[in-house]
Amino acid sequence: MMVNLFNVFDMSSEKTPIAPASNFIRGIIDRDLAQGTNANRHWAGTPGDAAHHAAGQPDPAKIRTRFPPEPNGYLHIGHAKSICLNFGLARDYEGVCHMRFDDTNPEKEEQEYVDSITEMVQWLGFGWEAFGKSHLYYASNYFEMMYQAAEALISAGKAYVDEQSAEEMRINRGTLTEAGKNSPWRDRSIEENLSKFREMRDGKHADGSMVLRAKIDMASPNINLRDPAIYRIKRAHHHNTGDQWCIYPMYTFAHPLEDAFEGITHSICTLEFEDQRPFYDWVLERLAEAGMLAHPLPKQYEFARLNLTYVVLSKRKLIDLVENKHVSGWDDPRLPTLAGARRRGYTPEGFRLFADRIGVSKSDSWIEYTILEDCMRETLNLSAERRIAVLDPIKLVIDNYPVDSNGKSQSEDCFAPNHPLKPELGKRTVQLTKELWIEREDFMEEPSKGFFRLVPDGLVRLRYGYVVKCTGFDKDANGNVTTVHCEYLPDTKSGTPGSDSVKVKGNIHWVSANHAYEAEIRMYDRLFKEAHPGAGDRDYLDDINPNSVTTITAQLELSLKDAQPAESFQFERHGYFVADRKDSVAGKPVFNRTVTLKDTWQK
Ligand code: ATP
Ligand code: MG
Repeated sequence: MMVNLFNVFDMSSEKTPIAPASNFIRGIIDRDLAQGTNANRHWAGTPGDAAHHAAGQPDPAKIRTRFPPEPNGYLHIGHAKSICLNFGLARDYEGVCHMRFDDTNPEKEEQEYVDSITEMVQWLGFGWEAFGKSHLYYASNYFEMMYQAAEALISAGKAYVDEQSAEEMRINRGTLTEAGKNSPWRDRSIEENLSKFREMRDGKHADGSMVLRAKIDMASPNINLRDPAIYRIKRAHHHNTGDQWCIYPMYTFAHPLEDAFEGITHSICTLEFEDQRPFYDWVLERLAEAGMLAHPLPKQYEFARLNLTYVVLSKRKLIDLVENKHVSGWDDPRLPTLAGARRRGYTPEGFRLFADRIGVSKSDSWIEYTILEDCMRETLNLSAERRIAVLDPIKLVIDNYPVDSNGKSQSEDCFAPNHPLKPELGKRTVQLTKELWIEREDFMEEPSKGFFRLVPDGLVRLRYGYVVKCTGFDKDANGNVTTVHCEYLPDTKSGTPGSDSVKVKGNIHWVSANHAYEAEIRMYDRLFKEAHPGAGDRDYLDDINPNSVTTITAQLELSLKDAQPAESFQFERHGYFVADRKDSVAGKPVFNRTVTLKDTWQK
């Protein structure tokens, strides 16, 4: 299903971002708060929170959500939806969102990912300091408690050590239409299970020789409840716990425990975990019965993940694009990683607006890339100062403009507003001289109907300057126009009483050739030319847009020489551009096109 939200929301640029729309998760939280579902929660003892939540003390946070990435990759635009949702709820409901690294899987995690993830969450405008402490957690710090939870299940007769081979387990699991078969090890005694599990922990058994399984129901219509594995043997070095453990919890067992240990109230995940929810509840309820956890328990809610047209978000494909050099790196401005989006000039405000605008639903859908671009346009329209840039320059010579006795042009101040919506930002001075740069497309030798810019014998206003009349033009050997000649009308300067004396229909921008900063600009476009890269039996790599970046040399107004890395501007009539945060050096910024002024993709 393709959702076009243009009809639903007012996209006019003057509007400030809309307040977060209500959604089904907010509905659940409103209900829980009204009913006091999570009031007076007391702590069973959370390693991370122990210091803050003395036993028996009620939780100061009204709700607790979490963002639990595995530190095995870079965040992308899909994660931004989850971050804005979880941190946004915590912000709006006087709660806290835990920043939790789900690092229970040994080997895969790296510090580089941890650093980049925390940086991006903060860049999006969120934090985890609340109620006097930091709520940044590592799931691997709970290994001992998870182990105790597993022993508690064994002691309650709810888990057993299975010595079937992986192949036997797979066969005995059954299918969607057939019930599974009980393992021959399923009915060992509690004592035997406990001692076998301790042997697993103590390294007495080979990797893969046995697993601990929850004892639920091999005939359950939900395959996830057919005695899922909860601990496996794996001799692997862990970045946090080193070689302390040779058994590791399975994700589906670890996750509800992490939530419970941290006192999460609303555990929000994507729809593919819906079938896991019964197991999530099963684990927590059994442990509550065993006295290890206290009610109220965390509850899992699922929402539709973000699918965005013209983008791939799968970790495998992103790695592929980077490693096979289809892009320049993880922060290539064309990649949908947050590091790439930031370098492209996308804004945190734009992402938050986007998250609010697309909302949260229970059914999968595709969101049009244009909606994201519009959110960036809207926020940049408010924040970015205006500047002048000539991207495809040709010369305009004002033949009657005064020169001194050496033939040097007079130089004259013109005043350009920094932001039409924010007069308080004032005006800046741009120099007008005899020779200017103008856009090639602003002159037409044989004008088409409705072309009101520069044409032979025609009048046009030089924006913030004078009205000029075109008097001729020069061409090179190939017939391309190189220089346009004109004469100015001295009484018509913008901002003077004479400015209205001559009426013109067109208005063009320019940069003084004596006061220009010649700069490299990367004109970025979409990375894929198809809305659904790789749909059908196409290879998604074949859908790469061959023109996703073009590097040009442009003539910019001189003030842009001082642009700071990551500073964004609207180049009048062209779009939004940002000084590249990596490749700009002081006094010599290079610019990335963030987004055009209008949606030109469909044309
Ligand atoms: P993996 O395949 O490694 O699990 P992942 O993209 O799910 O990849 P995680 O680190 O597990 O990566 O993601 C962290 C959180 O971000 C999860 O809670 C997940 O639900 C959420 N998330 C990931 N992709 C999307 C998406 N496209 N839209 C919304 N949320 C997402
Ligand atoms: Mg995941």
